[in-house]
Amino acid sequence: MKKVYFKTFGCRTNQFDTQVMMSRLKDFELTMSESDADMIVVNSCTVTNGADSSVRAYINRVNRRSPDAKIVLAGCGSHSKGEGLFEAKKVFGVMGHSEKENINSILKNKTPFYEIGDLKHIDSTIVERFIGKSRAFIKIQEGCDFECSYCIIPSVRGNARSHSEDNVLTQIEKLATNGFGEFILTGTNVGSYGKDINSSMAKLLKKISLIRGVRRVRIGSLEPVQIDDEFKELLKEPWMAKHLHIALQHTSDKMLEVMNRRNSFKDDIELLQEISSIGYAIGTDYIVGHPQEDEDVWREAIKRVEMLPLTHIHAFTYSKRDGTISASMKDEVRGDIAKRRHKELTAIIKEKNFLFRKKNTKGLDILVENGKDGLYYGYDQHFNKIEIKSSDDLSGNWVHIDNAVVEEDKNVAIFE
Ligand code: SF4
Repeated sequence: MKKVYFKTFGCRTNQFDTQVMMSRLKDFELTMSESDADMIVVNSCTVTNGADSSVRAYINRVNRRSPDAKIVLAGCGSHSKGEGLFEAKKVFGVMGHSEKENINSILKNKTPFYEIGDLKHIDSTIVERFIGKSRAFIKIQEGCDFECSYCIIPSVRGNARSHSEDNVLTQIEKLATNGFGEFILTGTNVGSYGKDINSSMAKLLKKISLIRGVRRVRIGSLEPVQIDDEFKELLKEPWMAKHLHIALQHTSDKMLEVMNRRNSFKDDIELLQEISSIGYAIGTDYIVGHPQEDEDVWREAIKRVEMLPLTHIHAFTYSKRDGTISASMKDEVRGDIAKRRHKELTAIIKEKNFLFRKKNTKGLDILVENGKDGLYYGYDQHFNKIEIKSSDDLSGNWVHIDNAVVEEDKNVAIFE
């Protein structure tokens, strides 16, 4: 049997898509060793120009190192860069998102192929095992209807569309039966779940919570405008992770307008204060250095960050993405200035995270993900990392900690 290796770039949704493709292989052998592989499926990301160049560099490296291996490009990059890489004979085949579930027949192609498919499809595969993971990412939706001016994703993932509730619930039942207790709901714009199928995130969450074995549910990322009263009613539920990732992207209303975002600072601060008042840790996405972010705008924006009850951040330095509205905008920000702003921003959140952990050293529930030789690692309900000393092998276990010691970058504890 021919051996297939998967190389995954990008987000949790891509991680899930790789699991879908792995689970669909019937007449091929899955290998975790790239050098053993006859075929290498590159599940690519195209969110920034940088992501494109990482994928291209990887493909060039494989072509040099394993000239006999056939490279198949999948993922978001297949929709943005696939044609070019195929015509340049850098890859043997290209398959679009909608072709993932046909991977077993597609890989049988004897001649080079370009099967880009459409951006309307939604998978129905139920992934029964999550190879190499102790937490299960569950893809509940695909695509996005927002039009953020810096973002290419809607053009490579299509419009927002939801997996059926049955599909998601069956998915979680299977994985819960196989021992998973924590589930991370993921997608391109997760918070838009249900709009097209007369459901909602809150309705789905209530049904998920009834599945035997579900201990904790996390939500990949939400847009501030998607957090409604129905959802807020669930915040105190014991199975809800006490951490939400709410993508603000900026705190200056001028920049939110330039970025064509749907949120505003006035609403955002109100929402975040309401959620943190019941003990939640809150993460966000934030882009610094977007065109038109002059020094005055920045000074106001960073002052506003100080006012927000944030504890975690994915801070990105703006990276031009060909094909987006922002890419043709003037008043670009110099790289060194963007870098300085990134540093300023992350330093503030690091301090806020430290203070939050100082206040939350008891009543921590941790899913231990890995570890050995008496040292184990996992995340608590606030999505803070912890290192646990124990003479027992804790891997894959849930442990309760009431005496965490707070260090600069993580918590530590002893479990006997
Ligand atoms: S919400 Fe905005 S940033 Fe997120 S995927 Fe959609 S368009 Fe891109």
